[in-house]
Amino acid sequence: METFGLKIIASDKVFYEGRCRNLVIPAPDGEKGILPNHENMVIAIAVGIARMEVEEGKWTEVAVGTGFAEIVNNRVTLLVDTAERPEDIDVRRAEEQRERAEEQMRQKQSIQEYYHTRASLARAMNRLRLAQDKKWNI
Ligand code: ATP
Repeated sequence: METFGLKIIASDKVFYEGRCRNLVIPAPDGEKGILPNHENMVIAIAVGIARMEVEEGKWTEVAVGTGFAEIVNNRVTLLVDTAERPEDIDVRRAEEQRERAEEQMRQKQSIQEYYHTRASLARAMNRLRLAQDKKWNI
């Protein structure tokens, strides 16, 4: 089967670089699937779970923060603020992040602080969702 080049870049690291057969990314208006030879485009990425099929039938899930995907000539680049595999998620830290953000949401905040807290809460909930889905195998 054909593949495409995939590079996933988070703020602090190159998370993945290699070939991919099929990629599903969370976009603001739902999931988008990317197969080889997809037309060139730029897609916004929302906080959510991306799935990539690197080997046939073997899917890897990744908790991603916001960013965008660029598709040019069968090469896909994902630029996201954060990216974590389920096994790398520190559940306790994510619970603390969620509690901290929920507490901040109850406080008076500037608009800028509010958006920052809301984004932090979304990342924490997303990490918990991926880590707990794996734990309970659902
Ligand atoms: P906050 O969301 O409250 O600002 P933070 O600054 O600790 O928390 P992020 O800015 O979302 O977290 O991420 C910073 C770095 O830490 C990124 O590399 C991210 O992948 C990693 N990271 C954050 N939270 C976790 C977690 N619960 N488990 C594993 N890695 C995490």
